[in-house]
Amino acid sequence: MSMNNHEDLLMDISILYRSTQKYYDRKLEPFHLTYAQLPILLFIFEQEGITMQNIVEKGSYDKGTVTKNIKKLEALDYVEVRPSASDKRVKHLYTTYKAKRIIAQIYKIRIDWWNHIIQNIDDDTMRSFEAVYGSMCERANEYAKLEPEGLRFYGWKKLSLRGFGAHPCSVLEIGGCNLRCPGCQKKHLVFLKEGQKVIHSEEVKTYLTHHKTHLRAVAIEGGEVGLHPELESFLQFLKAEKYAVKIKTNGMYPEPVARWAENGLLDEVEIDLKSAWSGYSEATGIHDIDTSEIKKTLDALRQANVSHRFATTLIREFHNEDVLKEMASIVGHDGHWVWRNYEPGANAIEEGLHGFSKAEIDALEQTVGPLVKTLAIERGAQ
Ligand code: SF4
Repeated sequence: MSMNNHEDLLMDISILYRSTQKYYDRKLEPFHLTYAQLPILLFIFEQEGITMQNIVEKGSYDKGTVTKNIKKLEALDYVEVRPSASDKRVKHLYTTYKAKRIIAQIYKIRIDWWNHIIQNIDDDTMRSFEAVYGSMCERANEYAKLEPEGLRFYGWKKLSLRGFGAHPCSVLEIGGCNLRCPGCQKKHLVFLKEGQKVIHSEEVKTYLTHHKTHLRAVAIEGGEVGLHPELESFLQFLKAEKYAVKIKTNGMYPEPVARWAENGLLDEVEIDLKSAWSGYSEATGIHDIDTSEIKKTLDALRQANVSHRFATTLIREFHNEDVLKEMASIVGHDGHWVWRNYEPGANAIEEGLHGFSKAEIDALEQTVGPLVKTLAIERGAQ
């Protein structure tokens, strides 16, 4: 696994951590100690008189964890707590003679494990790993001091002629989704990986401000846009820059979408219509899905008079003529609908699903098309 191409490095580190914990807990059992108490005991032994606060800072622990483990060490008679002579609130910690008698064995347990896990790793590799790991730890420690970061995207097509009719358009992909549709072809936006490239909204804003003379529209897709209330100020920015704005949504978040629609922040909305209501659970992977949320979104868009259309990825396992006719009744006689054929690919959430042949789609179009105002077939990826 290359460091630049990892998917879940921290998950791997947590596997290493858990194995380490198991090893130590087993080896420390004869001393009635656990892995959690080990570094604290060694901190105290190596710096007799250290305070609880020093340990909290040194190990980036929370205070409760240190207090709990020191109490255990005290109860086991490995540590003695003495109040400071100058300030009774400050407690100094010392190892007892009982601890000193076992400490050499504890160090040996630690050395044995370390030698076991680093075997076959040469010194240069180890040194560079330590440097990288050290800097990651520093960044992790700094995290608590950071301001929460704002809106971020995980994909960006700076110029597209397909995102918003034929308008030159920038297409942004937002991450995370409340559904887990088996037919989803954007796995990277649903199962967000640690190492996923993040695009900060400030970078996008700078670009859009500079390119507004030839780029007139922005489409924001998901994942699910409704999961991100912080999108609102970005939409306000887009409108202030006179961009036409389109969002794609699965319709499950009526409140933000209704608010954006009422406030004139949306020019077009595409609702991903997965199936007839009776097939929604199967098509979304959510057994207790509440489709009334989608109906509320539709009502809100109609009330706000925002242009909207439905889009469906045709999947053989979920759709047939009857289902599509039922879906047409949701789209309505005055509704616009887009079909895209399912194309299996590496970015699909589930394997084993299929699209339709061109002849089958043409036949379905003949029977279902007349039930809605317009039906467009877009061939290609979702
Ligand atoms: S298809 Fe859309 S709604 Fe379904 S999981 Fe993927 S991103 Fe979410």
